[in-house]
Amino acid sequence: MTRDAYDLIVIGGGPGGYVAAIRATQLGMSVACIDENAQLGGTCLRVGCIPSKALLESSRHYDQARHGFAPHGVLVGDVRLDLIAMHQRKSQIVKKLAGGIDGLFKQARVTRLQGRGRLTEPGRVLVVGLDGERSLAAKHVLIATGSRPAPLAGVALDGDRIGTSTEALAYSEVPKQLVVIGAGYIGLELGSVWSRLGAKVTVLEALDRILPGMDLDLARNAQQLFEKQGISFQLGARVENATVAKGKCMVRCSGAETLACSRVLVAVGRRANTEDLGLETVGISPDERGEIPVGDNFATSAPGVYAVGDCIRGPKLAHKASHEALACIDALAGRHAQVNYDTIPGVVYTHPEIASVGRTEQQLQEEGREYRSGVFLLQASGRARTLGETDGSVKILADAHTDRILGVHVLGPHAGDMIAEATAAMEFGASAEDLAHVCHAHPTLAESLGEAALAVHRRAIHLPAVR
Ligand code: NAD
Repeated sequence: MTRDAYDLIVIGGGPGGYVAAIRATQLGMSVACIDENAQLGGTCLRVGCIPSKALLESSRHYDQARHGFAPHGVLVGDVRLDLIAMHQRKSQIVKKLAGGIDGLFKQARVTRLQGRGRLTEPGRVLVVGLDGERSLAAKHVLIATGSRPAPLAGVALDGDRIGTSTEALAYSEVPKQLVVIGAGYIGLELGSVWSRLGAKVTVLEALDRILPGMDLDLARNAQQLFEKQGISFQLGARVENATVAKGKCMVRCSGAETLACSRVLVAVGRRANTEDLGLETVGISPDERGEIPVGDNFATSAPGVYAVGDCIRGPKLAHKASHEALACIDALAGRHAQVNYDTIPGVVYTHPEIASVGRTEQQLQEEGREYRSGVFLLQASGRARTLGETDGSVKILADAHTDRILGVHVLGPHAGDMIAEATAAMEFGASAEDLAHVCHAHPTLAESLGEAALAVHRRAIHLPAVR
């Protein structure tokens, strides 16, 4: 029998909500977590980060087995695709991890309620579940309801041929031609998956570049590499309309020809889930983007109601949500807590990966900030040579006067892992000189960070100064 009153009720069981729930129990609170899905973990685990990484890994193996082994002297015969097995592996990973969160909840004694949660007054949440309704009282309520794919005007999703990342994670056959709308994180990751598996992929992007928000040099280099992999790009192509008839899709846009294809993936951003939460009944008005405004320590305008993750401002990233959740709960318990938004890394898990933390060169230029840049090309990395993966670079941007690191941008294999060192360095306020002093094991890809740090002061050993 579950109780009717809690110290904390969390609405949403994703990387924001479930992390908050567990942290709150560590601090002695009684906690209930409401999620309408049977599996905990949110979009990230069910239909986002984890299944996409599973498919990225599997599709890369397939691609490597077909094209990548011969230079290593490994000759393979007929390589065939078992898409059903690939999807099953993905689903097993999701199932295992979701079960892991169930286990963590049991261990932490978080009460897990399946249903939709809605505020009926400050401190009161109605749970509408499969077996009826219950009204629960809480001292504090945390909204961590996440986001969903943003719709695109003129493009009617049919949940099959014209779909979002959710459909693209589960296509039952490899599309002949896949048109991806949007050259952001999702478009490039899932475009890569299906291109490796044999689809002819065309990415339509409204802007004149891919990956807005990432460093422009890296984005341009990455685009060239993706083109070599067989993905086509049409930049300056704003999609206005997509339709499907008799299994054939037509995509019309300004700035490019109309395209016919077998499937369309709409990946033009994400929108906060803030509808049907009873926000208006407690005096919370979402902003024009549909996001919940929050102040200090993630407090909303309603007493005792907080919000973190994709349903508030900032990048829609799982680790940002978890970080905010920890800070919010610690602050509730009267502990010091803060999130440093200057050191939230972003990673695109294409091949090569693209990872970034802090300011880009374009942002520094817009801010009129004086900076120095150090670039190291992976061509000169011994480890990259042995991997046979020399495409890419590391760029470090440091304040021209204080030498403090302001941004680090990596294009290369395992860039997502390499960015961790840069993030830690920035979190500790390191200078480029500090990073140059770190003894990196040889031969590793991480040595490139040390070389790029040396390059900030034109002292790189393995490369002539690039700029
Ligand atoms: P995004 O914001 O990364 O990219 C969307 C792209 O669509 C932009 O380049 C935009 O210019 C373009 N666009 C918008 N309207 C268009 C139109 N009419 N025609 C053509 N192009 C158009 O969005 P996303 O890729 O959908 O990802 C959503 C969010 O999910 C991201 O903000 C990201 O933070 C998160 N995400 C992260 C990861 C990761 O961490 N690896 C992976 C997937 C998603």
